[in-house]
Amino acid sequence: MRSVLQWLLPRAGRARERTDSALRESSARAELSFVTEHAAVLLAHCDREGRYIFVNRVYAERFGVTPESVPGKRIADVIGEQAFRVIQPFMERTLSGERVEFEIEVPYETHPRFMHCVYVPDIDPRSGKTLGFVAAISDTTERRRLEERLREADRRKDEFLAVLAHELRNPLAPIRNAVHFLKERPCEDASARSAYDIIDRQTDHLTRLVDDLLEVSRITGGRIPLQQSPINLALVVTNAVDASAPSIDAAGQQLTVKFEGERLTVMGDLVRLSQVVTNLLNNASKYTPAGGRIDLRLYQQGKNAVISVADTGIGIPPEMSNRIFEMFVQLHPYAPRAKSGLGVGLALSRRLIELHGGSIEVQSDGKDRGSVFRVRLPLLAEEVSVQSKRSPVRVEPVPEIILVADDNPDVVESLRMILTSLGSTVHVAYDGAVALELARQVRPNAAILDIGMPGLNGYDVARAVRNHLDQTACLLIALTGWGQDKDRKRAHEAGFDIHLTKPVDPNQLLAALARHARQAAASSD
Ligand code: ADP
Repeated sequence: MRSVLQWLLPRAGRARERTDSALRESSARAELSFVTEHAAVLLAHCDREGRYIFVNRVYAERFGVTPESVPGKRIADVIGEQAFRVIQPFMERTLSGERVEFEIEVPYETHPRFMHCVYVPDIDPRSGKTLGFVAAISDTTERRRLEERLREADRRKDEFLAVLAHELRNPLAPIRNAVHFLKERPCEDASARSAYDIIDRQTDHLTRLVDDLLEVSRITGGRIPLQQSPINLALVVTNAVDASAPSIDAAGQQLTVKFEGERLTVMGDLVRLSQVVTNLLNNASKYTPAGGRIDLRLYQQGKNAVISVADTGIGIPPEMSNRIFEMFVQLHPYAPRAKSGLGVGLALSRRLIELHGGSIEVQSDGKDRGSVFRVRLPLLAEEVSVQSKRSPVRVEPVPEIILVADDNPDVVESLRMILTSLGSTVHVAYDGAVALELARQVRPNAAILDIGMPGLNGYDVARAVRNHLDQTACLLIALTGWGQDKDRKRAHEAGFDIHLTKPVDPNQLLAALARHARQAAASSD
């Protein structure tokens, strides 16, 4: 007991020689003795031969002895030879002057247990020699057991979710088919039609939730296969914009898309990466009030490509910026436009991005200050991207005024966003007659026209632009689902310069527009 007090109060030994501090020392001892007696940790002070100098009551009781009977005994005699062999290497490290902290399963003869141990060398301040060591040991067996139980419960929950999602999918498929069948039949009854629509929408929603659940179980079971190939990230961004544009539009929000930098090619899974960016765009829309702004950028930073999605929405408290990437975490389940998600989108996104060797993070200045999500992906090395068949994205000139006409608003909107972000002024029309009128008024440098539009079709508009409006310099691009030779021929006869089949590869479209813009610039020089 004396020795441990000397160790715990190194200066007390020196102070003992000074009579004026004797009182202070004895009261400090009483206090320490009280503390060591009642501490919930096992305390022991041993010499360098491995013999006890002092143990506290908790320590002695753990081995069924009294504290007074222990000093002078060998450690192995108290804790057992087997347990001693486990701690011996740590003891030796401590005796060489190192503080050692570790957690191990100690095979005590009667009760193997997990122990968290801190061994501190007892160094003589005068000679610098290690005289022994002090051990502070806490029993973590119970905590370990609880952790194991939690892990087991978590495993069962994952299994349950996997089975549930799987089972829910089975009845959903025939329900969807049946609704589709009902909606296709002529139906005079307006309320029945609106009931079909409700079932249709809600089944869609349910399917999405079930798909999310399935993804959760795939992710936790480590079963997300990636179909990797060199991917042009511009394509990922365009896919995501296509998928999210309708909801962003419906919310009256303004989306800008900026492509910056060259050759932003990564090794990745196009579908999965598009899923991540779509999720970020959908979230930006969900958590931003109507009329807000969403800015999407694709750019290069060192050896990484970065896709950032910034919004002017409700923001994220800084202390939650990590937690939102955990499964089922939702900060604003009652946000006006949050609808019912499961809180798994960002967890999935993070896992997918990590599987691509990248990272995802969020930055927000807090409530109502908006958020910026950034996805970083390692760029492919130069040689690989050069070998890739896909053309790299370049910042190319684009024609100044472009007309886009298609009766599908999503197509129009996504093209408008991309072209506007590249600096063009874009005019849009949803039918042929309006397209022709716009062509007359704005005299576009290029027109991207769908063929199958109501009223005047794309061929009619192209012919009128060439013949009646006499706009021979306008680049005419046909956008159509029909890609046979006879369709191309027909398009050229109507006056189109280029014929592209849907879904259009944005790079191909941008390359054609850039070529035209360069030619126009050269001829005006
Ligand atoms: P869900 O949107 O289905 O709830 P996510 O995993 O996609 O699930 O997002 C988790 C949570 O992170 C959301 O519930 C929301 O609280 C917060 N969050 C995500 N994106 C944004 C954002 N752009 N602005 C504010 N909060 C966001």
